[in-house]
Amino acid sequence: MIHKTLTPDDIFQCKQCGDCCTGYGGTYLSPGDIRDIAEFIQTDSEQFLEKYCQSSGGRPVIRVGPSGKCVFFHDETQCTIHPVKPRMCRAWPFIDAILKAPGNWNIMGQACPGIKTGVPHDQVQACVKKEVEALDKARKDADK
Ligand code: SF4
Ligand code: SF4
Repeated sequence: MIHKTLTPDDIFQCKQCGDCCTGYGGTYLSPGDIRDIAEFIQTDSEQFLEKYCQSSGGRPVIRVGPSGKCVFFHDETQCTIHPVKPRMCRAWPFIDAILKAPGNWNIMGQACPGIKTGVPHDQVQACVKKEVEALDKARKDADK
């Protein structure tokens, strides 16, 4: 039997539910994220870290607001820092961890309704690899 080669769009379509912006501790920030978001909201890195972040395991993560969602989430417009959102938000659900443990895809699919589960692991990994490479290239181009 010949299997169709699946594309990232075949296995993930965001439903805009906002569930991935809910809850504490998930949104880690790289030094590049901190710099870009601080600039976008017109502050400096120190102020940004103090006002919008907290520490999780010694690393900065974005704070959660009273609604239980990320402080940058808005009910109508969703992510208010979309153009500079952290790498891990940008990458979701095509994250590096899937390359090491493809079974995580189906586990993530229980929390994210945009993820198509039951896809062969090799097809999921090929899509993740493609998206990770595209993201890394975009990052390098932006840094030029
Ligand atoms: S949980 Fe999944 S479907 Fe919902 S907004 Fe996040 S990425 Fe999109
Ligand atoms: S930065 Fe944006 S995409 Fe990431 S958790 Fe916050 S609101 Fe959601």
